[in-house]
Amino acid sequence: MQRVTILGSTGSIGVSTLDVLARHPERFEVFALTAATRWQPLLEQCLAYTPQYAVMSDPRAAEQLRQALQRSGSKVEVLSGTEALVAVAQDSSVDTVMAAIVGAAGLLPTFAAVKAGKRVLLANKEVLVMAGHLFMAAAKTHGAQILPIDSEHNAIFQCLPLAGPLAQGIALAELGVSKIVLTASGGPFRQLPLSQLSQVTPEQACNHPNWSMGPKISVDSATMMNKGLEFIEACWLFNARARDVEVVIHPQSVIHSMVEYVDGSVLAQLGNPDMRTPIAHALGMPERLPSGVERLDLVRSARLDFEALDEERFPCMTLARQAAERGGTCPAILNAANEEAVAAFLASQLQFNDIAQVIAAVLDSVESAEPVSLDAVQQADLSARQRARVAIQQISAKQ
Ligand code: NAD
Ligand code: MG
Repeated sequence: MQRVTILGSTGSIGVSTLDVLARHPERFEVFALTAATRWQPLLEQCLAYTPQYAVMSDPRAAEQLRQALQRSGSKVEVLSGTEALVAVAQDSSVDTVMAAIVGAAGLLPTFAAVKAGKRVLLANKEVLVMAGHLFMAAAKTHGAQILPIDSEHNAIFQCLPLAGPLAQGIALAELGVSKIVLTASGGPFRQLPLSQLSQVTPEQACNHPNWSMGPKISVDSATMMNKGLEFIEACWLFNARARDVEVVIHPQSVIHSMVEYVDGSVLAQLGNPDMRTPIAHALGMPERLPSGVERLDLVRSARLDFEALDEERFPCMTLARQAAERGGTCPAILNAANEEAVAAFLASQLQFNDIAQVIAAVLDSVESAEPVSLDAVQQADLSARQRARVAIQQISAKQ
């Protein structure tokens, strides 16, 4: 029996994870479920899955959840705050941690799971962008198995001939790999006239053509910052250099990514765009588990198209590439500025095109340092957020 903690269980990835777990009650037991502020969905999950613990980062929401659980006679123990998130991620009775909090908020609990040597299913890409070096080093030292949940990285992982876990620092060349190809759908605005981009609404940005996801990653997919973050994520996970990773637009999202070998072979992983496939892959490894995902019908899919990425339309991809090349805490600064800008866009305080402008302004003005510790990374994150809020105010005042 594998005991599982889901960090961010009420989100899109969290719900898909519970769906897969529920199909295999003989294999998995839910140890802890966690959420931020909305206690009602967590209450429903607690009643359905009876974990040992439920954690809310917000103490007032936790109190409401506690009372509601008591009223329904449930024995689930409710905790709150970051320390509690860390505790359920590193608890000695936990085998597997699904890291599915969105953004930098997942940094400490996910790092705690790695340091406790867990099998860590990593959806929360932002933490790897912020502190990839520290995560991969800690995974090696503490014997944690980091398994990529991001569909692209899970696809690449499936196409690599790895005998052991990631984080062993094997060079791609040693595996005969000449290139990693990350596919990108291009999001909802791939073909929108450039002149209309500034007018798009949060609702339009969140309406992804192929995937159903949380609001932040949906906006990231529309700006292509998601691919920028994934590019950095791929470099850390697979020990790749920037020039080893290519991004190609593939609007159907059927090929989830590819690996090219020196002999000319290109291996791809295909499937319907449903996150339960990578989740089931990582939960079951080395076995394959039924996931509930509809089978791919190639005849119905009919076409697989590819095109080059237009960096004029998607300047966030360029910003991410530059941050990766500059190194240090630049990726953490990029990520923090992006989180602030996306939140402001979702709150209708910023136009779509301004997201990239805010990030560029922050990257130009916040000094990068060596990401020697989690503290240094958090400090860079904090400074970048302060600077981003100033830039957001300046830009929105002009509108
Ligand atoms: P979501 O917004 O649907 O869910 C986020 C979860 O995190 C919720 O349970 C929420 O309660 C929790 N959370 C949010 N802020 C928090 C905070 N400050 N403290 C503690 N908990 C907090 O997001 P999602 O779409 O499920 O994405 C989760 C992560 O997975 C993101 O990093 C995203 O990039 C990544 N990811 C998602 C998908 C997808 O299909 N949704 C695909 C690939 C990667
Ligand atoms: Mg992805």
